[in-house]
Amino acid sequence: MALAFDEYGRPFILIKQQDEKGRLRGLDAQKANISAGKAVARILRTSLGPKGMDKMLQSPDGDVTITNDGATILEQMDVDNQIAKLMVELSQSQDYEIGDGTTGVVVMAGALLEQAEHLLERGIHPIRVAEGYEMASRIAVEHLEHISQKFEFGLDNIESLVQTCMTTLNSKIVNRCKRSLAEIAVKAVLAVADLERKDVNLDLIKIEGKVAGKLEDTELIYGITVDKEMSHPQMPKQIEDAKIAILTCPFEPPKPKTKHKVDIDTVEKFETLRVQEQKYFDDMVQKCKDVGATLVICQWGFDDEANHLLMNRNLPAVRWVGGVELELIAIATGGRIVPRFQELTPEKLGKAGLVREKAFGTTKDRMLYIEHCANSRAVTIFIRGGNKMMIEETKRSMHDALCVARNLIRNNSIVYGGGSAEISCSIAVEAAADKYPGVEQYAIRAFADALDCIPMALAENSGLQPIETLSAVKSQQIKENNSYCGIDCNDTGTNDMREQNVFETLIGKKQQILLATQVVKMILKIDDVISPFDY
Ligand code: ADP
Repeated sequence: MALAFDEYGRPFILIKQQDEKGRLRGLDAQKANISAGKAVARILRTSLGPKGMDKMLQSPDGDVTITNDGATILEQMDVDNQIAKLMVELSQSQDYEIGDGTTGVVVMAGALLEQAEHLLERGIHPIRVAEGYEMASRIAVEHLEHISQKFEFGLDNIESLVQTCMTTLNSKIVNRCKRSLAEIAVKAVLAVADLERKDVNLDLIKIEGKVAGKLEDTELIYGITVDKEMSHPQMPKQIEDAKIAILTCPFEPPKPKTKHKVDIDTVEKFETLRVQEQKYFDDMVQKCKDVGATLVICQWGFDDEANHLLMNRNLPAVRWVGGVELELIAIATGGRIVPRFQELTPEKLGKAGLVREKAFGTTKDRMLYIEHCANSRAVTIFIRGGNKMMIEETKRSMHDALCVARNLIRNNSIVYGGGSAEISCSIAVEAAADKYPGVEQYAIRAFADALDCIPMALAENSGLQPIETLSAVKSQQIKENNSYCGIDCNDTGTNDMREQNVFETLIGKKQQILLATQVVKMILKIDDVISPFDY
């Protein structure tokens, strides 16, 4: 190492091994990058579609995740290569913006890279390829708009929304219960949606899970759940029109703050003290009753005597509720958190249509459901399942379904799935290629071939002959001039995706094509890779 000075006199260090750094230039750089991107896409390819395989990923601390959600697989993989990281981010941005189609977008990008490799080998300049891809993606997106259809739904006609969510759930592990889960997702989204502004705040939908029970027991709760139970087993398990006092002060006589001494040397004195204490509790309970509370939710505990008294005075209570949950209850029920007993007033009570305690199985596991809350439209999806992995995967699948329903509310255009939209776009892009006299037409054709990769992967994953199936479907689309023939993955006997009710949102599909093209263009434009490692 040597110290040198720049023209401003600032010192900098020269590292001798500078030239030992790995460096790739020109075509080599592009090829290395392409193969890194392709490697990532290859991993996800087998997970695409309803018959796609799942991946099992083990984290360094031994946690196991089983999933076929593209974004999750890539997120859990420890990817070192920078280009591979771009693919990971690609899948995440699809997840972030749309929520579904995270596998498809990476498979599409992989196919575009593969096609680009052939073009580069034939001597076409990467910039021409990138430009051709850009043109082709615009043609494809325009064509998607052309073949898209409007999907009508209303609050009393949710069937179409349910069907679209079912398409998403088809390819997940939870597809056994796709109908009920899709209904839950749609109802949850409609509960929090603002249909006039076409907006859905997914933050208002809480997804909770509890191990045990069956997936079929998963339910939608119009309110919130708290992992607590009534403080006394004989307290009522169900309270209608509950008025809730939310307390962060202890339910006990105040402790003296400085040292005091109380001498109790006779039974009478002890009795007096006890009666005093009891009266104190009694007053507290009375105060709650006076303001009209029918349920007390306490951040702190109270001893058995207070508990007994509460039960006797018929004032149900819940103790040891965490701060975060307390806040949530306060927001949902429109109540105020009361830090001091003296401040309890009727207006500070939270209101809920129904508070009930639910027991699970034969265990002592109980939870509190606070439903039909006054203020908030917040809902909770409560997932049940045999093990933690199942619950986690259901949560992810639910997230996808919720996103699809939200996307449809934002924009109710759909295209047909099962690869049919891609085949139709491929035909359109191929036809458009002839109109371009320049070298770009090769790239445009290559783009059309890349689009075919999605139906091919779907066919391959379902055990069908990919090339045969694709060419049959393609010729059928051309002959019948339709855009709804796709891959019959589930072997239902028809490849008409309208009949099979396999839809995807237009914005999701558009985003897939645009994002994949963007990333591939970016990768193609890199012609110099300098890294601290040797290649
Ligand atoms: P992604 O993470 O990209 O959503 P999936 O594994 O969920 O990937 O697969 C989605 C693909 O599967 C879409 O192209 C969709 O059209 C297709 N698909 C879903 N259900 C069916 C079905 N019943 N028949 C044929 N294709 C289907």
